[in-house]
Amino acid sequence: MIDRIVEPLLEWYKENHRILPWRESKNPYYIWISEIMLQQTRVEAVKPYFERFIHALPSIKDVAVCPEQQLMKLWEGLGYYNRVRNIQKAAVEVVEQYQGSLPKDYGQLKELPGIGNYTAGAVASIAYGIPVPAVDGNVLRVHARLTESYDDILKQSVKTKVEMEMQRIMPQEHPGEFNQALMELGAMVCVPNGMAKCESCPISHLCVAYEHQTVMELPVKKKKKERRREEKTVLVIKDGERAAIRRRPDKGLLAGLYELPNLNGHLGEEEVLKWLKRYQLLPLRIQALDGAKHIFSHVEWDMIGYVINVASLENEKERDMLFVDIKDIEKKYPVPAAFQAYASHINMRLGQEKYNKDRE
Ligand code: SF4
Repeated sequence: MIDRIVEPLLEWYKENHRILPWRESKNPYYIWISEIMLQQTRVEAVKPYFERFIHALPSIKDVAVCPEQQLMKLWEGLGYYNRVRNIQKAAVEVVEQYQGSLPKDYGQLKELPGIGNYTAGAVASIAYGIPVPAVDGNVLRVHARLTESYDDILKQSVKTKVEMEMQRIMPQEHPGEFNQALMELGAMVCVPNGMAKCESCPISHLCVAYEHQTVMELPVKKKKKERRREEKTVLVIKDGERAAIRRRPDKGLLAGLYELPNLNGHLGEEEVLKWLKRYQLLPLRIQALDGAKHIFSHVEWDMIGYVINVASLENEKERDMLFVDIKDIEKKYPVPAAFQAYASHINMRLGQEKYNKDRE
């Protein structure tokens, strides 16, 4: 039965696909970067990041030699910074081993850092016309409903099974269009959370969950472990022109990025003032700020904050804090979007808000 989805899906895709900047040229580099960005963010949100990244780094060679701080700045707001680090590692290998062009081989693509089955499949099929599957969350959802499968789609064994099935039905002509059609159907029609638009689905006549009215029950995703919750106290330390930032350690969450100084736990004013004494800063005024949350994949930050006006930030005694001109922080230092709620107190925008501002 599932073999019969190929024709109607391709027909539907021809008429209904969205125009996206990375799809227009079939450039493997563009497809690679966009697919990595799309693993964490919606299509609409990815567009400005993608355009800016490609404008700044028009080729894989440019990525390979890009200074780390600039690279992080280009990724700022997308999160999952290890992904861009892996992009650079892979770019270096591509330059050294493949003269700067992504290899036209599914197996070789998968050997590059940060490129798994899905991304390798997307690049190989869309850019090079190689008939291999590209199974992402959208495809897993469509497949589960189409076949009325109650398997847990978060399991690797289930993903492998779906990949094998997609490989079996993959059309030798237009494999890229077929993979994109499946993804697009999942993104636009067979959408999650009980909102599937089955009436406008081109393969509803083949869909078992639609026939049995079990669409709302599928796909099955067993709950992941609960996130760890961490309390933080974020400090916006500023004088008239400068504010304090510091570099995060080279390993761990948000490694190597810059942040507003912060302390573990929810601290009171007295404790914060005591901590500031170590830096010989002279607080003129301290004001508590609203709480904020930021959710990472495994950790959730539960933050409170203070804005502290100090006499002058020139007296730098400790090396782990930098006192930087506020205008320069936004321009030069990659600060993760986790600090958005507090960065706004130095008129600094991060992540999506920054793009909205840049585009105004
Ligand atoms: S009929 Fe509905 S549930 Fe089935 S594939 Fe189409 S949109 Fe998804």
